[in-house]
Amino acid sequence: MYISKEFHFDAAHNLIRYKGKCENLHGHTYKLRVTLEGVPDPDSGMIIDFGVFKQIVEEKVLEELDHHYINEIIEQSTAENIADWIWEKIDKPLKSDHYKLYEIILWETESSFVSRRNEKK
Ligand SMILES: [Zn+2]
Repeated sequence: MYISKEFHFDAAHNLIRYKGKCENLHGHTYKLRVTLEGVPDPDSGMIIDFGVFKQIVEEKVLEELDHHYINEIIEQSTAENIADWIWEKIDKPLKSDHYKLYEIILWETESSFVSRRNEKK
């Protein structure tokens, strides 16, 4: 079974080694969907408490990125690199005997997004 939560954060960035609109400082309202793969605990009937799930992502990701200048954390702040950074931040905290991180989707705009999934390459 899969369980997901969605988050939003506002952040500024600019792309380096790049010619075009995104080379100048600007902001986005990013949308993030985090999905875990797991099995509900027989006693609680839950894979993970949504509140615990939310707290981990807020602490590890949103507190660092929301209303920040992303380039200070991720030099080349493409959606791909931000998704990789997020994956590294929450992969371990979101792991237990009955769930693990399955997928991250990061929307830079309503129509542009990247996804990273835990699967054999
Ligand atoms: Zn941009």
